Amino acid sequence: MNIRRNFLKIVSLVMIFAVLQGVLTSCGTSDKTESKAESKNDTETVSLKDDFYTAVNYDWLESADIPENGLNSDYYDICSKNISEFYKNYVEGLSSKKELSKQESRLLVLYEQFMEGQYEQSLETVKKYVQEIEKAKSLSDMEKLYSDKRISVYNGLLNFEISGSKSSYILRLNAVTLNGTDITKVSTYSFDEKIREQYLNSLKGVILKSGIYSGEKADAIAESAVSTETKILQGKLSENKDSGFSLYDSKSDFLFNVDLHSILDGMGYERDYQNIACDDFYMDLLNNEIFTEENVEALKNYLIAGVIYRALGSSEYNEKIGVTFEIIADFYMKDVLVKGYLDENITDEDVDYLSQMAEKIISVYKKRIDKISYLSDSTKSKAKKKLDNLNVIVARPQTLIDYSEADVSDKNTYIQNCENCIIAKRNEHNRFLKTEFSRDKIVFDTMELNAYNSFGSNSIIIDAGIMQDCVYSTEKSFEENLGSIGTVIAHEVSHTLDITGSVYDENGVYKGWCNVNDRKAYIEKVNQLKDFMAKQGEKDGIELNATATRGEDIADLTGIQCCVEVLKEQKNPDYKKFFTEYAVIHREKCTDEVLEKRIEYDTHSPSKYRVNVPVQQIAEFYTAFDIKEGDGMYVPESERISVW
Ligand SMILES: [Zn+2]
Repeated sequence: MNIRRNFLKIVSLVMIFAVLQGVLTSCGTSDKTESKAESKNDTETVSLKDDFYTAVNYDWLESADIPENGLNSDYYDICSKNISEFYKNYVEGLSSKKELSKQESRLLVLYEQFMEGQYEQSLETVKKYVQEIEKAKSLSDMEKLYSDKRISVYNGLLNFEISGSKSSYILRLNAVTLNGTDITKVSTYSFDEKIREQYLNSLKGVILKSGIYSGEKADAIAESAVSTETKILQGKLSENKDSGFSLYDSKSDFLFNVDLHSILDGMGYERDYQNIACDDFYMDLLNNEIFTEENVEALKNYLIAGVIYRALGSSEYNEKIGVTFEIIADFYMKDVLVKGYLDENITDEDVDYLSQMAEKIISVYKKRIDKISYLSDSTKSKAKKKLDNLNVIVARPQTLIDYSEADVSDKNTYIQNCENCIIAKRNEHNRFLKTEFSRDKIVFDTMELNAYNSFGSNSIIIDAGIMQDCVYSTEKSFEENLGSIGTVIAHEVSHTLDITGSVYDENGVYKGWCNVNDRKAYIEKVNQLKDFMAKQGEKDGIELNATATRGEDIADLTGIQCCVEVLKEQKNPDYKKFFTEYAVIHREKCTDEVLEKRIEYDTHSPSKYRVNVPVQQIAEFYTAFDIKEGDGMYVPESERISVW
């Protein structure tokens, strides 16, 4: 995550909302904040009673800077920097560490080669690959290249990761960008003209530096490659929010124009894979627009750009374009870093603390369900059954790729070592594919600043990346932790029963459990919140996309309501601390352009509304801050909304 963040300067602001389900995702409107503040006396700040979010974050919003090449500033930045700092220290510390594990010593070799700038030594291999790619005339020639164990390393279009489903591990088709960032996680901001231009220029520079192409041709390859990536990104963003991914068995030919299974054979995958998962939008795109005879030239350009870009191993040059070793390590040997992070940063105490917090949240959630009058007893009992079987996984991945046997040494060139990492990764995938999968062994990218609900396994996953001081700390009070990470966990619990969650049963099987009338009644409630949200936006002159955000808005509301119930069970709970912390973790400052794009694409509401709207529905908020009729935050009791 941090790694990707570093890459922001040249490529894009990565993975803000495709992945972040729970927190730190939305954006406050800086201009609004300022104009409100200015309308008051200079010495006066916005009142908590009128605009809670802005008042709590007033000083920060006033002083926070949006980085020159960035688009926003938020808690996410701080957390990302922490992880980034850890990775940097960890890798640099390896050279002075007394005893290195096998995989750590391999990581160190790669690091040293990268830092020394071993680009020249790899150039011969790059030229050979490029020559071979240049010869391709048809899609079937491309298929042969994609089936080459080594060249396929650079084919970001067909990159596979390991994942799990029901009782088996599966391969998941995850397209990656030229530098190895998961393409589906790159956010809308890759459409930001300025940032895209920087990316394009850096790519042109790298291609030119290889000495293989003249300026004009280098430009053409770079432009073509970026446009291929953009096509995929746009496809991802415009996909139907409800469409997901499909599982294809090892016999189905789901790529019509190329033979995926023979490509997989060539890449080194054994035929033990039961299923391959692929996003539906991506499958359509591959079949209809990407793997076509007319597109062969673009496919060649994309592969050539991938080879040259990835092979770039000069630290001096990388620095200029913002490629750090973390980006490299993220793609080639990430799990070594992840293991280091988990060993050093996550204690059993942390895991227990959050597991217990989740347990408390789930328990009050069930009590809330009992009190609901608009649902039938049978739906309520099924909802509770689902919560009973909800699996909460905190920060501990059970599936880490082991690079101990990767053929990585200083006898190889940098590029050979990079390729060997990927080959080792595929071997590890083969090993996993032969073993049984259970939801306790869930596979996840644990360094995400994220928590999410895995519907297919009825699990909630709290990533290690999010378990840091800014969101969770053993130094903080229970109220503060509950206001931050607690509300994130509760938000995810809420997804278990939301519009999507209600079509997966307690075992994660795709099977609705809510009867038609209850579902109707539930959606009516949901729409109440949608209308309320839209009205709050109107008051500020902002047209929110409340239909698109309603699922997340409910999760926010229910999440915070559950946490308040948990607090009620504590002795002398400090509600002020709790609500304040909630407002703090959501603070964010962004440009108007970013806000506009957020509203268009993000399924979460802008920060200000994610904070103010839920708290407005909660009695304890009114008492804690003495909110009265006439205050901006006031909503008459009869108009307050509760969905679950
Ligand atoms: Zn969510």
